[in-house]
Amino acid sequence: MDDCIFCKIVAGKIPAKKLGENEGAIAFPDIKPEMPVHILVIPKRHLASLDEVGDGTVMAPVFALAAQVAREQGLDKTGWRAVINTGRDANQVVLHVHLHVFGGRRMSWPPG
Ligand code: 5GP
Ligand code: ZN
Repeated sequence: MDDCIFCKIVAGKIPAKKLGENEGAIAFPDIKPEMPVHILVIPKRHLASLDEVGDGTVMAPVFALAAQVAREQGLDKTGWRAVINTGRDANQVVLHVHLHVFGGRRMSWPPG
């Protein structure tokens, strides 16, 4: 998708520090971290949101890479959170599916 910032990151047209990659996904730090660890994991293929995900094959590499980068950050020792905001009520801003990996401090639950 030409006007999608995350597709531009996948294509290398917008710089991002690559923290990991597999056949279907890449991981990079969020530009405005809300937590000590705040990493985004996205499918290389453009899908606007989880509402567009069909059988889940696009998301399998995203979950695998999320667990890998979390481990590399040492979060498997302490715990971490995966969040995928979908649509208006969840405040999804970027319309290319992305999984937030949050960690590095205790978190509250439930979300607001
Ligand atoms: P959403 O609310 O859509 O789940 O979150 C979008 C996230 O993308 C936000 O946390 C925001 O800081 C991040 N973000 C937006 N633009 C960029 C960018 O150009 N580069 C990076 N690394 N993160 C971005
Ligand atoms: Zn995109």
